[in-house]
Amino acid sequence: MIKPQTCPICRKPVSSLTEGSTGNRYFPFCSERCQQIDLLRWSKGQYRIVENLSPEQLADELGNGDPFDQDSL
Ligand SMILES: [Zn+2]
Repeated sequence: MIKPQTCPICRKPVSSLTEGSTGNRYFPFCSERCQQIDLLRWSKGQYRIVENLSPEQLADELGNGDPFDQDSL
């Protein structure tokens, strides 16, 4: 069994680019949004102190709505 890769931001399962035509260009993140959250954390120097964010916290990080609504494409 191959252990599924999970998004380091929201812990959702993500697929890598090696899994065919549906590969995830944002790997290891599940979406552009989580990739941006990661960048945002680094830019704020908060990465080392931030643990898993709740969906509400994820939304707050970016200052907009539901952080998951782009993941179900
Ligand atoms: Zn994610």
